[in-house]
Amino acid sequence: MTVLVLGGAGYVGSHAVDMLLKRGYDVAVVDNLVTGHRESVPANVRFYEGDVRDQAFLADVFEKENIEGIMHFCAYSLVGESMQKPLMYFNNNVGGAQVILETMEEFGVKHIVFSSTAATFGIPEKSPISEKTPQKPINPYGESKLIMEKMMKWQSQATDMTYVALRYFNVAGAKDDGSIGEAHKNETHLIPIILQTALGQREFITIYGDDYHTPDGTCIRDYIDMEDLIEAHIKALEYLKAGGQSDQFNLGSSKGYSNLEVLETARKVTGKEIPSQMGERRAGDPDELVADSTKAGEILGWKAQNDLEHIITNAWKWHQSHPKGY
Ligand code: NAD
Ligand code: UDP
Repeated sequence: MTVLVLGGAGYVGSHAVDMLLKRGYDVAVVDNLVTGHRESVPANVRFYEGDVRDQAFLADVFEKENIEGIMHFCAYSLVGESMQKPLMYFNNNVGGAQVILETMEEFGVKHIVFSSTAATFGIPEKSPISEKTPQKPINPYGESKLIMEKMMKWQSQATDMTYVALRYFNVAGAKDDGSIGEAHKNETHLIPIILQTALGQREFITIYGDDYHTPDGTCIRDYIDMEDLIEAHIKALEYLKAGGQSDQFNLGSSKGYSNLEVLETARKVTGKEIPSQMGERRAGDPDELVADSTKAGEILGWKAQNDLEHIITNAWKWHQSHPKGY
């Protein structure tokens, strides 16, 4: 039986493929390479290049593979871009989910674990954020992911399909040998930008605002290590295979770091000065986003193991060995 990894050539998906193989799963990958990299997936893994919205293409993959479960990572996921091109986001993220769910039903595939996001919560009134926190997205990206969650919920009520939605907080890190890692074309995330600055690829990092309601004035985020994140996916898949009910989980380390603390940690790990400057606030940034992952502990037996220093250490290995990405 095979685990079908949709979006397996992307940042998170490629690490999922790697860990699934390491654990002895049979794996096949679907990716249209819109943001992914063929080189991030081992050459001997069955790789279907195509778009999940292409019904005939996906049906052909389901025909060929004996699928026990799906991990679904395909999406457009840039908040700013989603504000400019909302329909492109709904088309890919919601349209993709629609075809995947239809194809699962057609072929009797029962289980799916998929990437949701803290962006489904918008600007919550309270932190930490639990599964009981109301979901009120403030951008089309978050909205598209919330719609995906709802589609899965209704489909699981109507059929015998079960799903787990994993709402990631800030994902960072890389495989511990630095052989795969984060290689987004238009990088917007804090940790890779800091490390590109450490490499001298950027003159300085701009920290977006120091007038937030936090102890040092900069935003607080909860960073989850890639290895911990993939562990949660494997636990979720096994939970579903064992008959677990459909559910949603917030995934973070439950510890927040301010942007300045992240910068300081990166200076310590890299031994580099990493020039920085203080800039204006970036639109739409909540003061603090920290996950309450108690439920994932209780139901999946999952808990983040790795701290920010570990995350940055592995990300630094990747950036040093792949300064231009793949
Ligand atoms: P990514 O862009 O690196 O990976 C997405 C992969 O899906 C890429 O390989 C891309 O080519 C592929 N893809 C996109 N649309 C497709 C389509 N229609 N058909 C086939 N392939 C398609 O992104 P990532 O950072 O690895 O994120 C993976 C998932 O996790 C996304 O769904 C994202 O929304 C979610 N997520 C990521 C983060 C984060 O911090 N990286 C946080 C929360 C949620
Ligand atoms: N950030 C920053 N400078 C950058 C990129 C990000 O100060 O060049 C800040 C951003 O404003 C936020 C935090 O870093 O407060 C995390 O942002 P990121 O884009 O990495 O993730 P997000 O929390 O938006 O998903």
